Amino acid sequence: MKIKSVRARVFEWKGKTVPPQGNFCSNAMDLVYSKTESMSTFRFHSWTVVEIETDDGIIGLGNVALAPAIAKAIIDQYLTPLVLGQDPWDYEYLWQRMYRATHAWGRKGVTMAAISAIDLAIWDILGKSVNKPVFKLLGGRTKEKIPCYYSKLYRTNLDEMQAEAQKYKDQGFTAFKMRFGYGPAHLQKGVTENLKSVEAVREVIGYDNDLMLECYMGWNLEYAKRMLPKLEKFEPRWLEEPVIADDIDGYAELNQLTSIPISGGEHEFSLYGFKQLLDKKAVSVVQYDTNRVGGITAAHKINALCEAYSVPVIPHAGQMHNYHLTMSTLASPMSEYFPMFDVEVGNELFYYIFDGEPVAENGFIQLDDNKPGLGLTMKTEFLDQFNIIE
Ligand SMILES: [Mg+2]
Repeated sequence: MKIKSVRARVFEWKGKTVPPQGNFCSNAMDLVYSKTESMSTFRFHSWTVVEIETDDGIIGLGNVALAPAIAKAIIDQYLTPLVLGQDPWDYEYLWQRMYRATHAWGRKGVTMAAISAIDLAIWDILGKSVNKPVFKLLGGRTKEKIPCYYSKLYRTNLDEMQAEAQKYKDQGFTAFKMRFGYGPAHLQKGVTENLKSVEAVREVIGYDNDLMLECYMGWNLEYAKRMLPKLEKFEPRWLEEPVIADDIDGYAELNQLTSIPISGGEHEFSLYGFKQLLDKKAVSVVQYDTNRVGGITAAHKINALCEAYSVPVIPHAGQMHNYHLTMSTLASPMSEYFPMFDVEVGNELFYYIFDGEPVAENGFIQLDDNKPGLGLTMKTEFLDQFNIIE
């Protein structure tokens, strides 16, 4: 079996969108002067889809959501020539070829995301070629089904947040992640608002359910050090990405500061990046995304590393590529889960591009033992609502 062609297409959503509210989630730009409201312009409404075809007619699907147009250019100009004519079963060799050939200017960020998309498509091919789901090639089933946590609860008014938490609690979810709306720029009033929102969600879900808190890098170290002791009484399962991803020493300091576990990793890349985080005890929960970190070939190695460090892996964003790793890894106790909703920030867009994403039932998702590869196909229902760039 040889790789015959690689096609990377950018899918730009041009359909209806719901405008997110101003302070729906703190983020790294909050610390930079801006005339617009916090996060009000934050969107990622396009996605790169990679289709790799083999000489025996198998098509593997991969995807990347970071800087889609640039990812496509890297795939077209640099990565495709490295994999064409090669045997997809030599996935480690192909991964090293892509990683080392782009090393001078790649290593992290969008280059690693582009490598991830090719690697995902290769693993999809491997599964399809032996008629097995990808998780069966990675260690198989380690759990009957995958517990997942409800992830949205953007900062809106407190009544809306409470109604949303109640709705998904009623659907059987036992873990919830909410977003903070405020950071250092909002002074003490923002601190009060942040605390009020946590209190409001806890009021609905109680203390028999898990609550995760998301900062999305919208705080700085000083602000995080003020906030953490105030948040301890709410017993969060973790506090996510309090500071920018490069401030590893900041993560390490915060992780030792209180009883609240600090999580992160959705903006970290490769085995080396995670070794650094783990060596410094910077995070107590690892949250890579397989379509950023270097694909399944890299994520599988990071899982082994996390197992050795006794740090749980709970990948970012849900999505099939992450679910297969969670299913096959004992170090991975649960998945993030975004339900499908109207296009808003972009977190939900993959539901509009692919068919086959599992839908949570009673707070769990299931993978099919008989669905080969990653289990995704291209969705046709919304095709006319995308601008597709070849
Ligand atoms: Mg996050």
